[in-house]
Amino acid sequence: MSLLLGFLLLLLMLSLHYSPTSSAATDTVSPGHALAGMSDRLVSNNGKFALGFFKTVSDNSSSYTSRNSYLCIWYNKLPMVTPLWSANGESPVVDPASPELTISGDGNMVILDHVTKSIVWSTGVNATTNDTIAVLLNDGNLVLQSSSNSSMVFWQSFDYPTDSLFIGGKIYRNKVTGLNRRLVSRKNTIDQTPGLYSLEFDISGVGHLVWNSTVIYWSTGDWDGKFFSLAPEMIGATIPNFTFVNNDKEVYLTYTITKETAITRAGIDVNGRGIIGVWYDNLQNWLINYRMPILHCDVYAVCGPFTVCNDDNNPFCECMKGFSIKSPKDWDIEDRTGGCMRNSPLNCDFTMNKTGLADRFYHMQSITLPHNGMNVQTVASQDECSEVCLRNCSCTAYSYGKSGCSVWHYDLYNVRQQSDGVADGNWKSLHIRVAANEMQTTERKRKSGAIIGVGTGAGIGALILMIILIVFWRRRQKWFACGVEINAQEGIGVTAFRYIDLQRATKNFSERLGGGSFGSVFKGCLNDSIIIAVKRLDGTRQGEKQFRAEVNSIGIIQHINLVKLIGFCCEDDKKLLVYEYMPNRSLDVHLFKDNAKVLDWNVRYQIAIGVARGLAYLHSSCRDCIIHCDIKPENILLDASFVPKIADFGMAKVLGREFSHALTTVRGTIGYLAPEWISGTVVTSKVDVYSYGMVLFEIISGRRNSSEVHFEDGGYSAYFPMQVARQLIDGAIRNLVDAKLHGDVNLEEVERICKIACWCIQDSEVDRPTMCEVVQFFEGILELKIPPLPRLLNNITGGSHPTSLLSIDLQ
Ligand code: ADP
Ligand code: MG
Repeated sequence: MSLLLGFLLLLLMLSLHYSPTSSAATDTVSPGHALAGMSDRLVSNNGKFALGFFKTVSDNSSSYTSRNSYLCIWYNKLPMVTPLWSANGESPVVDPASPELTISGDGNMVILDHVTKSIVWSTGVNATTNDTIAVLLNDGNLVLQSSSNSSMVFWQSFDYPTDSLFIGGKIYRNKVTGLNRRLVSRKNTIDQTPGLYSLEFDISGVGHLVWNSTVIYWSTGDWDGKFFSLAPEMIGATIPNFTFVNNDKEVYLTYTITKETAITRAGIDVNGRGIIGVWYDNLQNWLINYRMPILHCDVYAVCGPFTVCNDDNNPFCECMKGFSIKSPKDWDIEDRTGGCMRNSPLNCDFTMNKTGLADRFYHMQSITLPHNGMNVQTVASQDECSEVCLRNCSCTAYSYGKSGCSVWHYDLYNVRQQSDGVADGNWKSLHIRVAANEMQTTERKRKSGAIIGVGTGAGIGALILMIILIVFWRRRQKWFACGVEINAQEGIGVTAFRYIDLQRATKNFSERLGGGSFGSVFKGCLNDSIIIAVKRLDGTRQGEKQFRAEVNSIGIIQHINLVKLIGFCCEDDKKLLVYEYMPNRSLDVHLFKDNAKVLDWNVRYQIAIGVARGLAYLHSSCRDCIIHCDIKPENILLDASFVPKIADFGMAKVLGREFSHALTTVRGTIGYLAPEWISGTVVTSKVDVYSYGMVLFEIISGRRNSSEVHFEDGGYSAYFPMQVARQLIDGAIRNLVDAKLHGDVNLEEVERICKIACWCIQDSEVDRPTMCEVVQFFEGILELKIPPLPRLLNNITGGSHPTSLLSIDLQ
């Protein structure tokens, strides 16, 4: 379930902001009764659906203001409009025209441009009566029917789905006529124009996600009676009951829901992924329980040409070097399919090779190759392969490796950066063609970097001197290096290293300890005695941000439960961080790995307390409030005596003493993210409290909260944090503890830790304790009451327990 929380944010971006205005509503348009202007609307008889015109405005991108209005259907009672169907995506009504929906003389339903009185859109059918009316039915279907006989339907919106599947609607293929009622994505979060992606069935009954009507990038597999073989998660998507029909004549998918009042959403999003979601009133937002494919980069050409896709980055698309975003205003609202364009045109004259003006190649490593490469036979070396490409003006890249020489022409699509998590040996290197001056710019940068590098040796002495001067004479002065701002007063323990020394210390980065999205951590040894861990960040902007975040947070403070930053290196685009080495690695290794030695209860309890102390210090005892933002077992390291040390401050947010909250983009890891990240409100140090609570559950159970073992009954009722919350009320906590401990636990401590965990994951941050209070709970200074069930969890798991605060005190 916790996975789902992370998806909410994506949905927020998908939703369009719109402030509905009220007017007396009917569900019918008839010849004498038109729907006119932006505030008029039809509302279905049951009040569930609304139909009207709206103009979408983006809330955070001033660069994109849409002047188009569309006739759409949406859920009437939601505070924001998520269009489920639009009539005139391809022919919007453009300002200043005022749109009108009416019944024309020939009985069709039409959208009129009120100013010119021209028809913008029409149902285009041959109505056999002259008494047609349009009705918005209770299921959201807009029908054109005879006013005297409602069974005479001439046209219905369910036959022309856009990007969403209504309950009772169908994704449909007629095997005889070839009729294909597919879902088509919208262009972006603002524009209702059809996008490039569709969801449709082939005649054999397999569903596909398709790019530009040509390339299939994801398929459902066969239907096995309950779900599609390649989309087993559908069954876990709890809300809808899918019906799949595949006979000689037709194939279609439809769904119903058991809870009539539930508000659901199924369809294809702007980024080409299939989604199934449900509206949560308590959250005032959508909760998307299923996306297919899971990774953005699995969607064909999702970043457009000349880009690199990386799911670990936000945004997940980046331009290749030498290219810039083609349409920044589209990019801002998540439509990145336009991709990037060259900064400088290619020269294309191979004969200029000797003059240095011919085009050149730069090398990209660890990527998946673009689609549609052409293999060139008879090429025996990389130089020859490069020459083949240079001789053809439309050639944009080549790759030379074990499988020979491949070249690409025109646009490059689907280049994907390796991330540590998905390395599978299919990663290659690619040489991208750019104009000579682009390479010169890069080389110039590198040279000036080298000059700085040469000067670094001599500079180190000067730096040390400078630090001493700063420390003794101007204690408040700040020291800047690589954009890193270290307060000299506290930063005296941090050393600046030369790259070459760290290269030597780590034996050329040979012993890898671990790594995440922005780099790897290697073991090393300083002066043959002090063992260190060196984190090498990649050269991307994100890597640079992480570097600064770490030095500015952990670089200036020290605490027994925080990992110690010994120093850093910043040469050119090389950014490294040096920490004390933690021989017992990270907590996840001990909790979740099958072959790990089981951590006994006492050690677990001490780890829980230690982490609480470390966080309490971060939040309140040091100069500024530091929010870690990524508390999870991977970022809790253990020293030789299993004393926990909070590590990885790459996401940390430093708030000045006078600030207690910040508005910032989501940071952290799905499964540990507090709800306020998702709802987009300000975040405070209570986000760490939430993540800490989630970690406590994992310490108790010895399993990931998201582990499938907890979900054996196929639902979320066994979601571990929920079990704990319920058992606390029902009073049976012994069964909750990791079975690997064979009951060898202190029950009083178990109960305490369970209660603390439940308090920490309360929906509202004001209900969660501060980390200082958590420490006091552990120390027995503060009394602990039975925590209420977190509302969000209770709703999702369909629980019937009361959510009000129970005041029985078990202590
Ligand atoms: P990332 O930002 O890549 O997640 P981390 O700082 O969390 O970077 O380090 C990644 C992994 O490397 C950790 O989960 C841990 O296994 C290992 N690691 C990091 N720092 C140390 C250290 N000081 N001693 C031992 N192992 C470490
Ligand atoms: Mg980490």
